[in-house]
Amino acid sequence: MTNEYGGDPENVVVVGGGIIGLASAYYLEQRGADVTVLEKSSIGAGNTGRANGGIRAQFTSPVSSALSKESIEVWESFDEQFGVDIKYRRPGYLFLARTESTAEQFRENVAKQNEQDIPSRFVTPQEAKELCPGLYHEEFVGGTYCPIDGIADPHLALQGFSDAARESGAEIRTKTKVVDVLQNGSGEVTGVETEAETIPADFVVNAAGAWAKQVGKMVDIDLPVDPKRRKLMVVDPEEPVSEDVPFTVDSDHGFHFRPERKGAAVAGGHFSDADPEEDPDDFSTSTSIDWAAEVIERGAEVASYFGPETRVNQGWAGLYAVTPDHHPILEETIPGFINAVGFSGHGFMQSPATGQIVAEIVTNGSPSLVDVSSLTADRFANGGHLREGTVID
Ligand SMILES: Cc1cc2nc3c(=O)[nH]c(=O)nc-3n(C[C@H](O)[C@H](O)[C@H](O)COP(=O)(O)OP(=O)(O)OC[C@H]3O[C@@H](n4cnc5c(N)ncnc54)[C@H](O)[C@@H]3O)c2cc1C
Repeated sequence: MTNEYGGDPENVVVVGGGIIGLASAYYLEQRGADVTVLEKSSIGAGNTGRANGGIRAQFTSPVSSALSKESIEVWESFDEQFGVDIKYRRPGYLFLARTESTAEQFRENVAKQNEQDIPSRFVTPQEAKELCPGLYHEEFVGGTYCPIDGIADPHLALQGFSDAARESGAEIRTKTKVVDVLQNGSGEVTGVETEAETIPADFVVNAAGAWAKQVGKMVDIDLPVDPKRRKLMVVDPEEPVSEDVPFTVDSDHGFHFRPERKGAAVAGGHFSDADPEEDPDDFSTSTSIDWAAEVIERGAEVASYFGPETRVNQGWAGLYAVTPDHHPILEETIPGFINAVGFSGHGFMQSPATGQIVAEIVTNGSPSLVDVSSLTADRFANGGHLREGTVID
């Protein structure tokens, strides 16, 4: 088999069977590469299976907005393209400001987003209440709303990418842990070692999510990607949350919620100053009663859906893979070694664009879909920190 340019296909090993690894595998196969995905556990066993499913274009950094915008193009037609109904719906995201200074920042965000053709808009408290009928709108001075923002099911999307990657020719091996990445004397990648064998490769993609640092160490790179615990819970609110209520974020207090099915909601927030780096192989995936009580208390300051009668159905914790500026590292860091890591709370939504970019790097040498030249691993040492003002914890 040859690649799309008639040459030998590039041999690619993808480390990690989450949404980033499988989207990359699919788009790599589409561009003629020969792909093996190695997953130490099972598909989706990492943090893709714990995501909230949010998909938004409302970011303040141009590169994040662009990654999301390109991804939304894929999410919009995912069902037809991949034959899987991912329950994609677009109630929008509503960010709320309690202070004038936050509102001022919001106005600047909207201006920047509109420059990128993202149809966000500033809304008054009254307009916010029309979008979110239970809102205590008098607590807020304004908000931003974007109608192309929405929600989908991460499990179903992962299944879509996984099936399509396999059907396109990718080999997906579960229960296969990569223990080393091999390089020649010039530092170029030559393959990987699993616990059982050596697999040759022209390119290795680090799509190991919260384990990214461990895989980086295999080629002596110290990746600043820290696993940080984030929690969510499904609640039966005091009054049903209709499915057209936006994913609503109290930006000044950190609480957020979104509609789930049948009047339920998914709510969360990270309220503590303490935010230790976690061990991705040994952290608590459950939530505490204290945290759940705080979420409901904060929710009760936002909307009439939350209060003492709110019933918690299910809670869980997962890991954000966080870089110091909440932007990913997306580049060929050393010859043949591509990092697609550090997506914080955005890796699910940005996986379609990321997969395409990884495929472009391998088959073209450089990406063209989005200018990701700012997403280097060495930006932190070189003063190239990016800024993002809409991080949702
Ligand atoms: C509570 C919570 C809510 C979130 N909400 C959202 C949201 O609303 N929207 C959004 O876009 N994102 C959200 N995220 C973030 C999102 O889940 C991640 O950014 C995304 O899933 C990352 O995908 P990934 O493929 O990089 O990582 P993962 O899904 O974690 O996959 C990495 C895989 O690599 C495997 N692996 C690791 N090391 C090795 C090795 N040595 N050999 C072989 N395999 C290995 C792991 O087993 C794992 O399966 C949320 C995250 C959390 C925790």
